[in-house]
Amino acid sequence: MKILNPANGELLAEVATDDAASVAAKAAAARAAQPAWAAVPMVERLAPLQRFRAAVVRELDTLAALLTREVGKPIAQAKNELNGLLPRLDFFFEQAEAAVRDEHVFNGGGMHEEITHVPLGVVANISAWNYPWFVGCNVIVPALLTGNAVLYKPSECATLTGQAITRLLHAAGVPQEVMQCLAGGGEVGAALLAQKIDGLFFTGSHATGQRIAQALAGRLVKVQLELGGKDPTYVRADADPKAAAESLADGAMYNTGQSCCSVERIYVHEAVHDEFVRHLLATVATFKGGDPMDPGTYIGAITRTPQLEVLEEQVLDAVAKGATLHGGGTRLPGAGNHFPPTVLTNVDHRMAVMREESFGPVIGIQKVKGDDEAVALMNDTRYGLTAGVYTQDEAAARAILSRVNAGTVYWNCCDRVSPRLPWSGVGDSGIGLTLGVAGIQTFTRPKAWHLRSPG
Ligand code: NAD
Repeated sequence: MKILNPANGELLAEVATDDAASVAAKAAAARAAQPAWAAVPMVERLAPLQRFRAAVVRELDTLAALLTREVGKPIAQAKNELNGLLPRLDFFFEQAEAAVRDEHVFNGGGMHEEITHVPLGVVANISAWNYPWFVGCNVIVPALLTGNAVLYKPSECATLTGQAITRLLHAAGVPQEVMQCLAGGGEVGAALLAQKIDGLFFTGSHATGQRIAQALAGRLVKVQLELGGKDPTYVRADADPKAAAESLADGAMYNTGQSCCSVERIYVHEAVHDEFVRHLLATVATFKGGDPMDPGTYIGAITRTPQLEVLEEQVLDAVAKGATLHGGGTRLPGAGNHFPPTVLTNVDHRMAVMREESFGPVIGIQKVKGDDEAVALMNDTRYGLTAGVYTQDEAAARAILSRVNAGTVYWNCCDRVSPRLPWSGVGDSGIGLTLGVAGIQTFTRPKAWHLRSPG
């Protein structure tokens, strides 16, 4: 498989891919090795993962450069991802033992009742490329900590990063058989699904997630799907339009708009709409595009070439239906996949840009008359990953956010993930969760013990 730099088309590497036989061999080795790994005390599983963290810190600059070359993420944002990984790892390290500690829930009349949390066994992780360190480690680290073996298939667009994660885990002392990396695209993912696995943890698009769920439906394998979104934000009449615009421009365009929780739709009260749009355009005008290796670059490359067409079609569709385009709207000429920040106003829900995930630096802004209309529009979607509101009024924010169907809600912030909070989606944004204490427990199953003492 050829790995190309999406920012300039340069060949970075050629990687040997797995096939059905090598996937089966890796799965068998993981199956054989998992019980011994599960039998190791938690503290001994923790030690290599802490050494892995230290290696990430030590190699941060090299790993960030690799990530930037492979996915086109601006170098400053690649470093942010790696630095942002550290508190996530710390959360898992601090919480893992308590999360899966035995629970003694009843003692009386000669009966003792206990719950133990046993590892699922061999878990598969099929992953996305847009935040490969985050979405990979959200699964790999708690799964390993709780005694599972992991079969990890990074995205074909982040193979080198996936291999780097695996190399560092092995070098830190995680046994080779317990942590296996598979290289390749959808066909290798499909070969992985054909193995005997005890859990499937997927991050990627809704279309692939649905295919995976169908492939596993007959086998009663635990399935978690973290999928896309069409994340809305509402700017109320009482919000500070400048502060909201600056925050939301970043929320829509950071990571070149290629975040599952990017702001994808903005609804603005008519009283502050024009002022908000003016500030948002002024902020977007400061976003520097270009070579992702340049520390000043804010808009990097579009990682997957076909996405350029999706973005162009959304813009054409919106303009044909009456939207106003404020600059951008088409790919940039020259080598690599570059698309400028694109803002559309006068949009509505007949337009694909307000209904389908853009996954690029494109944002639609729609004028609304009040809270009820905003809530109705926010909920007019098949997705439900995140949603937000900007207002001075906390009570109003809480009332609005409690009516919105989303796994995560934000007041005066956006595009934010916390290791302490569960990350989950409603509707076509997925099933299951990662992060939070529940995101550790999800790699185990509770086993119920009914113990009657003979006396
Ligand atoms: P994708 O669905 O194209 O690919 C995801 C993974 O699935 C890749 O590893 C791919 O090789 C594999 N795959 C493809 N076909 C397969 C098949 N038939 N069987 C098994 N595996 C198969 O998604 P992507 O382009 O890598 O990621 C972008 C999407 O991920 C966006 O929709 C984004 O919103 C979503 N995402 C969601 C979250 C979240 O936390 N909810 C986080 C990051 C990304």
